[in-house]
Amino acid sequence: EKEALKILISEKSVTLDGHEVELAGNIGTPKDVEGVLANGGEGVGLYRTEFLYMDSDNFPTEDEQFEAYKTVLEAMGNKKVVIRTLDIGGDKKLSYFTFPEEMNPFLGYRAIRLCLDRTDIFRTQLRALIRASAYGHLCIMFPMIATLKEFRAAKALFNEEKENLIREGVKIGDKIEVGIMVEIPAAAVLADQFAKEADFFSIGTNDLVQYSMAADRMSEKVSYLYQPMNPSLLRLIKMAIDGAHKEGKWCGMCGEMAGDELAAPVLLGLGLDEFSMSASSILRARKMIRSLKKSDMEELANKALASETMEDVIELVKNSLK
Ligand code: PEP
Ligand code: MG
Repeated sequence: EKEALKILISEKSVTLDGHEVELAGNIGTPKDVEGVLANGGEGVGLYRTEFLYMDSDNFPTEDEQFEAYKTVLEAMGNKKVVIRTLDIGGDKKLSYFTFPEEMNPFLGYRAIRLCLDRTDIFRTQLRALIRASAYGHLCIMFPMIATLKEFRAAKALFNEEKENLIREGVKIGDKIEVGIMVEIPAAAVLADQFAKEADFFSIGTNDLVQYSMAADRMSEKVSYLYQPMNPSLLRLIKMAIDGAHKEGKWCGMCGEMAGDELAAPVLLGLGLDEFSMSASSILRARKMIRSLKKSDMEELANKALASETMEDVIELVKNSLK
């Protein structure tokens, strides 16, 4: 099967009725780019930069970060590279940084919350990213955005560092996109407003499911509530996609759901523009996209949105694929 899929490496991710989407890869280190390209990835949809911090004994310097980001951007040529700013906290800790004691670390001091508090750490990363932007098509993405105020604060720091670097005479890219992860229900609900100010969205279903269901994604006991295909989640996803499209912006997905073969038909029908997944899933997803009709999937998505349970949705999709 693997060999048979190889013929799709340079093919487009296009449906039978001519609708094109982008299939991208998730990476954790610059080395992972190889796998994305070898599997025909059309971009990097999520570069989790926290590994740069976790695999180090100290906060990585601006230059160390710059080198890592530049390596990825250069390797991807002019393909889109979405780099997520530091998403630490929750279950991801650092040996050289003390986190506050909290009852619920997943609901606590993490990701953009930490970065907006420790702007010294955040500014270093932003400078490294902006410098790297000269070497490709960079999209900067902020994790765990809950409010517009947070997004504006993060964007303001980005703009300040961009101005600083320009003043210092540093060459920077001319088309940096700045967007957010939609992984907190509050952001999905206000997607139409976020879309006026953000250049793109990427839906993080791993956390969006956890926060929508109030079910810890690490807890075995409540894992039955991990339900990306629950109609309530599908409606949140629809809000994000519709919100983006209304303002002419693109909406991707970088949570596990994006690489799920049962979810893909529904996501296609909802109008998702970019699917970012582990490299090894890309070709199978391309094969599936190329076997579907967008118009049929729109009908399927409407039925899924009107369904009552996750089980109903799964049944619906399975029947439609027969
Ligand atoms: C997500 O929450 O869906 C996501 C992609 O980010 P992470 O899994 O790193 O939290
Ligand atoms: Mg997340």
